[in-house]
Amino acid sequence: MRPSLLSPWLRLGAMLPAWCAWLVLAVPSPVLAQQVEPEISEQLPEMGTAAQSTLSVEDEYNFGRMIMRQLRDSGRMIDDPELNEYLQSLGLRISSQAHDGNRRFNFFVMNDPVINAFALPGGFIGVHSGLLLETHNESELAGVLAHEVAHVTQRHIARSIQNQSRASLVSTAAMLAAILLGAVGGGGSNATMGAISAAQGLAAQSQINFTRENEYEADRVGIGIMAQAGFDPSGMPAFFDTMQRRTQLGPDQVPELLRTHPVTSSRIAESKARAAQYPVVEAHDTLSYALMKERLRVLSTPAGQDARDYYASVITNVPDASVAQIYGQALAAIQAGDPAAAIPTLEKLRAEQPELLQFHTALGQAQLAAGDVKGALDTLEKARTLAPRNVPVTVRYAEALMRANRAKRAHEVLLDLFNNVPPSQEQIRQTAIAANAAGDVADAYSYMAEYHLMSADLPLAINQLELALSVPNLTVVQRQRFAARLTELRSALPKERARLEKSDDKSQGDRPNAASYAW
Ligand SMILES: [Zn+2]
Repeated sequence: MRPSLLSPWLRLGAMLPAWCAWLVLAVPSPVLAQQVEPEISEQLPEMGTAAQSTLSVEDEYNFGRMIMRQLRDSGRMIDDPELNEYLQSLGLRISSQAHDGNRRFNFFVMNDPVINAFALPGGFIGVHSGLLLETHNESELAGVLAHEVAHVTQRHIARSIQNQSRASLVSTAAMLAAILLGAVGGGGSNATMGAISAAQGLAAQSQINFTRENEYEADRVGIGIMAQAGFDPSGMPAFFDTMQRRTQLGPDQVPELLRTHPVTSSRIAESKARAAQYPVVEAHDTLSYALMKERLRVLSTPAGQDARDYYASVITNVPDASVAQIYGQALAAIQAGDPAAAIPTLEKLRAEQPELLQFHTALGQAQLAAGDVKGALDTLEKARTLAPRNVPVTVRYAEALMRANRAKRAHEVLLDLFNNVPPSQEQIRQTAIAANAAGDVADAYSYMAEYHLMSADLPLAINQLELALSVPNLTVVQRQRFAARLTELRSALPKERARLEKSDDKSQGDRPNAASYAW
């Protein structure tokens, strides 16, 4: 753990050797689902039943949140403001061409060396660190995202789960999370490992409900989307080529689940032919792509390894090193606990290209890690004059304010930011921590209500709002706001509560006591 570069609330999972495949979400049959411990049943919101012929977009979103919660709890999600901002803006550039109503897409990075990406119901799209690092240019990455976006807009997953009963959907959410996390291999609870072996058995029976047709359709639709977004459509087949080469290196290591839907030569040929139908595009990579790739390289370096070793081996001649490599080398120094070595480099990069906010935030991080809180505040205040509501700049500024014991100001700037830009779940938590430290306890509870709501945990969200309302000396505005939100959430609760009361749900006892719930 190198807390100097990583956000303090971030935990990283262990890394394991890579094998490769393109994992498409597998939806288990109800028969199999019964074998899996429904670990998250108590949080499941009301969703479509077998009687309904289709899942609504909202049902899909709720289902996706269930799985996201498990992924987040695994500690393998990389919640880095700079990286998230880049991936989200690239993803939105692509998904905005999909014209899928008002659906909000969420793109995130999993710390996993396996070359993989996946789409969850509800527009949640995950990219493994191993895949992003394997791309050669931004169009290849865009191709992967466009393929996953197409799985969502074509409702491949929604269609495959729409005829399942509610009970099996609960198990399905747990199963999908287990498969995604289990794809890393090795660790995990017995329940997780059980789910994986069950899933593999299922694959052998060819009962997994994803089809070759869905893959071809996602390729076809995805290529159209990426061309409209201004990327080179041949980026998709180019990345397939890369994957096929990697698969050939160690076919024995590819589990049964993934062998069922390989990247075949005909799929590559078809996507090449499809891409050739579009005009040739001279796509230029953004510098942000190169910078964020190096940032991810450092963030995903396994514990016990030193990212400085990598840069020492690739940068043989400093005048020839790319800007991105120099930036990566500076980040590696911060991560290795030598932020002082990074500061002059980052100052120089910032002076040369002040429009790149990544240099400002990295410098602020280095100064903070070196104990120069005042220097970090100066750096980030300057950056805020360039981009007042940029998310990474504001989040880093709030971190520096917290270190300077200025929690009140940290709460203010985060609140202002997230009243204007939708926050991530971890950013809501950061805001709650700042509010709590500033003595704004009722606000902190109300933020935690929103935090739990994002995990689709309605009972805990309600609990936090009740606590917010129990804080003495609330303002009239606070009381009205919390009460209105509580009414809204309670109205969504009755069916959920009835179900909880009916079931002899032992997991209720494990839920943290809200009064002592730590955040
Ligand atoms: Zn796919």
